[in-house]
Amino acid sequence: MSATIKVALAGVNGRMGKVLVEAVAANPHTVLTGALEHAGSEALGLDAGHASGLKTGVAISSDIDAVLANCDVLIDFTRPNVSGSLLPRCAERGIKMVIGTTGFDEAGKADIAAAAEHTGIVFAANFSIGVNLTFHILDTVTRVLNEGYDIEIIEAHHRHKVDAPSGTALRMGEVIAHALGRNLADCAVYGREGHTGARSPQTIGFATVRGGDIVGEHTALFAGEGERVEITHKASSRMTFAAGAVRAAVWLQQQRTGLYDMQDVLGLNNR
Ligand code: NAD
Repeated sequence: MSATIKVALAGVNGRMGKVLVEAVAANPHTVLTGALEHAGSEALGLDAGHASGLKTGVAISSDIDAVLANCDVLIDFTRPNVSGSLLPRCAERGIKMVIGTTGFDEAGKADIAAAAEHTGIVFAANFSIGVNLTFHILDTVTRVLNEGYDIEIIEAHHRHKVDAPSGTALRMGEVIAHALGRNLADCAVYGREGHTGARSPQTIGFATVRGGDIVGEHTALFAGEGERVEITHKASSRMTFAAGAVRAAVWLQQQRTGLYDMQDVLGLNNR
């Protein structure tokens, strides 16, 4: 690895942002050079490491131009509208982006793809290595079990999470639907209530739990006649996502313009 990579964080005072400050400091290939929050944030002017007691020497700022003038990669864990406003500004400057924000609609995803024609972007619903291995395993499990198993995806997160189902649960659904030759949009069932009728074997069901401080739990359930297969991932610390996002930033520095996901970073994609 050559020169140290200059990393800026968007949403630095959020749950993920605070842990990302530690993850950037812990990675030998990265240095924090910028820390963005919204203009009204009470954290403006504080050291980016204030929450963890780290002295980064980087003050939290809302000055996007100044932050982008001094970074190689922007790691963004904010909200879709914020990520959307940062995309063109990074694209026009050739600044690479690692996007962990979830909850984008189709137009938002199209904006990310368009920006990736001008700069390198890693966009992933989940940056944990274990979850990405789970996506990989799910493809195999689905192809082997194939027909005769009812598939349900159950996820649980903390009470503050604003989107549902989680981006990770949706990605699990996409992986499974793809392995079955189905389109998730045509077969997904999001929650059930009242007289639902019998379960259609073609559907993939989603169930969402919200509460307390649950960092993130996902189960893909394959229920057949006489047996069940359950593939479960449980995150107990946000550091797993943060360390993965910083690893993605280091990997991205070596890549050409284009749109990548965490499977690419880990070498799990066969494309
Ligand atoms: P959070 O609400 O704690 O943090 C978001 C931060 O963004 C806040 O500090 C907020 O003030 C800041 N922000 C708002 N507007 C801004 C602006 N204009 N400029 C800069 N910062 C701004 O949320 P969180 O729990 O940290 O999650 C953030 C996002 O990351 C969510 O979409 C969540 O689903 C996603 N997430 C992804 C992964 C993954 O691995 N991909 C893991 C965890 C969370």
